[in-house]
Amino acid sequence: MDFAQLSTERPRVSDQDPEEVLHRIFGYETFRPLQGDIIHEVVKGGDALVLMPTGGGKSLCYQVPALVRPGTAIVISPLIALMQDQVAALKELGVRAAFLNSTMDFEQARDTENALMTGELDLLYCAPERLIQPRTLDLLHHASISLFAIDEAHCVSQWGHDFRSDYLELSRLAHEFPSVPRIALTATADERTRKEIAERLSLTEARHFISGFDRPNIQYRIAPKTNANKQLLDFINAEHDGDCGIVYCLSRNKVDATAKMLSGKGYTALPYHAGLNAGDRARHQERFLREDGVIIVATIAFGMGIDKPDVRFVAHLDLPKSLEAYYQETGRAGRDGKPSTAWMVYGLQDVIKLRQMLEGSMGNDHFKRVERQKLDAMLGLCEVTSCRRQVLLRYFGDTLEQPCGNCDTCLNPPETWDGKVAVQKALSCVFRTGQRFGVTYLIDVLRGSENERIFQFGHQAVSTYGIGTDLSANDWKSVFRQLVANGYLRADPEGYGALQLTEECRPLLKGEVAIQLRKDPVIKSSAGRSSSGTSGRRKIADQITDKAGWEALRACRKALAEEKGVPPYVIFHDATLFEILERRPNSLAEMAEINGVGAAKLEKYGDTFLAALRELDGH
Ligand code: ADP
Ligand code: ZN
Repeated sequence: MDFAQLSTERPRVSDQDPEEVLHRIFGYETFRPLQGDIIHEVVKGGDALVLMPTGGGKSLCYQVPALVRPGTAIVISPLIALMQDQVAALKELGVRAAFLNSTMDFEQARDTENALMTGELDLLYCAPERLIQPRTLDLLHHASISLFAIDEAHCVSQWGHDFRSDYLELSRLAHEFPSVPRIALTATADERTRKEIAERLSLTEARHFISGFDRPNIQYRIAPKTNANKQLLDFINAEHDGDCGIVYCLSRNKVDATAKMLSGKGYTALPYHAGLNAGDRARHQERFLREDGVIIVATIAFGMGIDKPDVRFVAHLDLPKSLEAYYQETGRAGRDGKPSTAWMVYGLQDVIKLRQMLEGSMGNDHFKRVERQKLDAMLGLCEVTSCRRQVLLRYFGDTLEQPCGNCDTCLNPPETWDGKVAVQKALSCVFRTGQRFGVTYLIDVLRGSENERIFQFGHQAVSTYGIGTDLSANDWKSVFRQLVANGYLRADPEGYGALQLTEECRPLLKGEVAIQLRKDPVIKSSAGRSSSGTSGRRKIADQITDKAGWEALRACRKALAEEKGVPPYVIFHDATLFEILERRPNSLAEMAEINGVGAAKLEKYGDTFLAALRELDGH
C-alpha cells in the first residue's frame, strides 16, 4: 500500500463543516433526510443507532464525520469484499482509507498499522475478529480515534439471520474507549432486534435514527407461477434487456439450470452458490461487480455486502421464507435511487414446500410459531389485493398513507370474486377424500375426471365428485393456493403434499362466512406492456434518447475503470453519467456542478469526459 502517495493527496479537513465535505469530497448537493441529523450527532461526539433501508445512504453517516472529526475512524464491517470495495471507492475520492483483514500479509498489515499510528488515515476498515484481538485494541489505544462505526449491527442479535459471535465482543469498545463516539448501523432490524443491538453494544444512551423504510424507486411485482422460465425470460426481455440483475432460487440445482437457461438465450448469466468452489464464486462476483449487464443467478448465499448501486432488477423464482428476507433481497435493487424492479413468481407448490420445511424443521414450538407467523406474512403479501408497498411498510412499522402507484396491484388492480361456494366445495372435497390427497388429485375429483386412481379409491361416489366443472383446473389451483396461503388448509407435515383441514376452516366449510378470492391476472403478452402510470419512474434506458452518446460515455467510463482495476460505478454511477449526458458540461466548472462529481474525481476524470463529449459533438 502506498501511503506516501495517499497522504499528499489531500490536506486534513478536520476544520471543515459536513456540508462542505459533502460537496467537495463526495460531489453531492444535499444530505438525504436524517443523514444531516445523524452526522451532526456524531460530529459533536454523541452515539447513534441508525436504521436505514439498503441504499438509504448509511455510509455517508460515518464517512462524513470521519472526515470532519480529528483522528481516524474505525469502521467495523463483517464482509471483506465489501470492505475492499468501500476502501477502493473512498480512495477514488481522495480519502485516506485502508483496511485490516485476514487477506493481507504481515507486511501490508504492518504498513497499515503504521499509517494509523502516524495519523495518516481518515478511515480504517476492520473485520470484527481482527478488531478484538488484544494487539489491535492495544494499537487503537495508542492512536487517535475519531469514532467507531459498527456496520451491519444486526449481526450482534442472536435471533437475527446473520449472527456473528465476535460482534458480541464489540461492547468492550464502550468501556475501553468511553470518550469516542460510536455509531451502529443496520438495514434490517425490527423493534426487538433494535433493543438487542442497543443493549449488546452498550448503546443504551445512543440516539436512535430510524428512517422510513420505503424504497419508492423499486417496483414490486408478484405473479402466480405458470411457466417460471418463460415468465422470467419474458420479463427480462421486455424490461431489462442488457441490465444487471440478480435471480434468486432456493436450490443449487435450480441455480445452475436457470443460469444455463439464461446463457442459452444469450444473456451473461453466472451461477453463485455454496456448492461452487471459492475461486469460481469470487470470479463470478467480480464479473458481476465489474462488467455491465451481468445477471447473477444465486441462492441466498449471494448478496450480503453487495453494494453495487445499479442492480436494475431482483427476480425471485422461489418464495423467500419471510418478509425480512424478501425485503433484504429485493433491497439490493436500485441503490442508486433509479427505477428498478423486484419481480417474483410463486405457486401452490412453493407454499406447500415452505410450509412443510417449516413443520419438519428442528426447533421448539416457540421457534416454529415465530417462523410460521413470518411465512404467513410473506404469503399474505403474495395474495393481497391492495397496495403491496403499504403491506410491506406496515410490517416494518412504517406507514404509507396512499397506495403507492408503483406496485403491480396498484398498476393493475386484481379483481376479486366471491369464493364462498368454491371454497366450500374445495374444503369439502378434502374432507370427503380423507385428507390424504394432493391438489392435483383433489382437482381431478372436483372436475369429475375419469382418472383410474379415482375409481381405485372409489371417489367417483363421493358427493364432491364432479361438482367443480364450472372452474378450470388452473382456477382450482388458485383457490387451493389461497386456501393454503391463508392457513385454511395445511400440507401434511409427513410429506407427499397431502392437504389437510385446519381448525380455521370450519366456518368456511359450513358456509357461515363470506370469502373474497383474488382472481389471478391473465398473463398478457409482455410485448404490449404499457409503462403508463410509472412516468417519472422510468428506467434510465428509456429516458436516454441519445443512445450513441450514452454508449460513448459508458465506454469512456469502462476504459478508466479497467485502467484503475475498479468497478465502473466507482468511477461514476449511472445517474452521474446520465446527468453528464443530459447537461453536456462545457468546462470543468460546469462539470463540478454535476451530482456525484467531487473535487478528486473532477480532477482525475473531468478532462477525459469533457473530451468524450467534445468528440460526440464532432469537435
Ligand atoms: P447503504 O449503505 O445505506 O445501503 P450507501 O451508503 O451505499 O447505502 O448509499 C447508497 C447510494 O446512495 C450510494 O450510491 C451513495 O453514493 C448514494 N448517496 C448517499 N447519500 C447521498 C446523498 N446525500 N446525495 C446523493 N447520493 C447519495
Ligand atoms: Zn402499490
